[in-house]
Amino acid sequence: MAPGLYVHLPFCPYICPYCDFAKWPRRASVAARYLAALRAEMEAHASEPAETIFFGGGTPNAYDAVAIEGLLADLRAHFPAPDASVEREICLEVNPELVRPGDFERYRGAGVTRISIGVQSFEPSEIATLGRKHVPADVARVVESARSAGIPSLSIDLMFGIPGQTPASWRGGLEAAIALDVDHVSTYGLTVEAGTPYAAWQAREPGAFLDADREADLYAAAIDLLGAAGYEHYEISNFARPGHRCRHNENYWENGEYIGLGVGAASYRSGVRWVQTRSLEVYLEAAAAGEQIPRDEERLSPERACGEAIMLALRTEQGVRLGAFKERYGVDVLARYAPIVAEYEPAGLLARGDGRLFLTTRGRFVANDVCGAFVTFE
Ligand code: SF4
Repeated sequence: MAPGLYVHLPFCPYICPYCDFAKWPRRASVAARYLAALRAEMEAHASEPAETIFFGGGTPNAYDAVAIEGLLADLRAHFPAPDASVEREICLEVNPELVRPGDFERYRGAGVTRISIGVQSFEPSEIATLGRKHVPADVARVVESARSAGIPSLSIDLMFGIPGQTPASWRGGLEAAIALDVDHVSTYGLTVEAGTPYAAWQAREPGAFLDADREADLYAAAIDLLGAAGYEHYEISNFARPGHRCRHNENYWENGEYIGLGVGAASYRSGVRWVQTRSLEVYLEAAAAGEQIPRDEERLSPERACGEAIMLALRTEQGVRLGAFKERYGVDVLARYAPIVAEYEPAGLLARGDGRLFLTTRGRFVANDVCGAFVTFE
């Protein structure tokens, strides 16, 4: 299968205090240089088909829709669809308060099929705590205008574990997403990353943050509410109406190959994974000069690659398909990882059936521990 293509657009109109992504406050002159650098990086890359295209950030719609339209036209020409008769998934992340009238018509005209809306919360006090700037009514307006522009698939991101969040406010956010009838919901637990203002806040006032049990209760509520509303829990953090799974992300979980363009972007080809420099200036200069972008590169050992493939597959509803896995990697998972299976299966965290090994619902609450055991197994 052709690789997925990820394009990083790193500028934001404001910086959220919990954020650890490669991002910078938007300045028009740097944003213009960055677009030129992306095009130069693309030109230096051999033209080849890409299964999907995903614009992430940063805040991709900190660029106006005309800029996105132009960039996408170039990317589509350089990385054509593997099968021209089928419309491929092209996804764009947006911040709701930045959407302008007519944006979705332009995106749709340029080939975008999926919009992922960075909502995080519908509760004004939580939105303020996160340092974000939308009001709940923005979300309804954005969903409505994306639908009327004919965008086929709409997703909302919601965050649990926000300081001050209550079970009632979390349920309220999930119910709001369901009431908007979006096609897909991603639910992420807040992670406090070292070096962010949130890390300093947590060090000063640890009690402001939710503990693991309270977070697990919120996650359980998401599983219940979204499941009852007809969303398939197809990956630990992701819920989709039938036919609306994120194809681009499914490729990651299938351990498929991907190409990343832009500052801090990651790629995975032929067993080698690399992450490009997170220095914006270094990126801009290298790309503009047509030089290789400085990067950290790692060739995975066969054991590590196998452990990671299991970890990724376990994140999904179907888990590891044991027969297909043996064919692809030459590894009998139940034999090689017998001690792990012997520990977690009786504990009710892993289960087997239909030739698959998968996380149980309880296992999904401690997925990092169970999946991590496969990655570090020797
Ligand atoms: S908008 Fe997104 S990428 Fe930008 S600072 Fe906030 S969380 Fe980070």
